[in-house]
Amino acid sequence: MSEGNQGSIAGTRRVLKGLHGLGGVRTPSSVLPGVLARVGLRDTYWQQDSPIGPIYVAYGEGGVSAVRRASEATGFEEWYRTRFGRPVMQAARPPRALAEVVERRLGAGAQGDIEIDLRGVSAFQRAVLQKTLEIPRGEVRPYGWIAREIGRPGAVRAVGSALNHNPVPLLIPCHRVVQTNGRVGEYAFGSAAKRAVLEAEGASPDLLEELARRGVRYLGDTEDHTFCLPTCAGMHRRLTEPRYVTFRTPQQAVSAGYRACDVCRPALAS
Ligand SMILES: [Zn+2]
Repeated sequence: MSEGNQGSIAGTRRVLKGLHGLGGVRTPSSVLPGVLARVGLRDTYWQQDSPIGPIYVAYGEGGVSAVRRASEATGFEEWYRTRFGRPVMQAARPPRALAEVVERRLGAGAQGDIEIDLRGVSAFQRAVLQKTLEIPRGEVRPYGWIAREIGRPGAVRAVGSALNHNPVPLLIPCHRVVQTNGRVGEYAFGSAAKRAVLEAEGASPDLLEELARRGVRYLGDTEDHTFCLPTCAGMHRRLTEPRYVTFRTPQQAVSAGYRACDVCRPALAS
């Protein structure tokens, strides 16, 4: 915690003490939560549009802490207190700079850096979530790819569970992680929502499902002899051109003389 924060918290304590000392004088009930929120002792949230409809975005001194589908505010506040062990209150108005970054990250524009509060998650889950942040918009990676990339190739199921408990879906794009067989699979907000978000990002869920049905897991470029996961940016563009071949396994691609793309690292996805 910065010195400035400590200073302001000490200041708030003095204010609280002062309020207490007022005894019988009535103060507006909004004063205390507002003061707490301003100095980071209480988290706040606002409502915002997203590709899956309105969402709540909560934040505190550690950054954005939660993203949930907007429904009933009281229910969200109760859920938040249970999950994080601290209260949250609706912001009078969204913090402009943060709301703009969130909006950019949810939309098609530039992504922008965002501070995300992952203090409450395990080291394993943090590794999974940080790796997931690396998956570009419009692309997907299998659960097994995440597991291998973080050095835990046997932990595919645990990767799924970690993603299912992602505190900030959409901002950490767990929707970009698909089943190892290539199918779109499950999502914390439901598989229909997952398909909708992928579609909005330009990763065709229909194409992914069709390739999965055909058992196609890798695409090879017949000109430069590299093979990729189907949504790898370079390969995705080439899908409209008659210059790719399909593979079911990395071994099949390697035997045919293809080398793994060093961007999407498909050999790690078996
Ligand atoms: Zn690639």
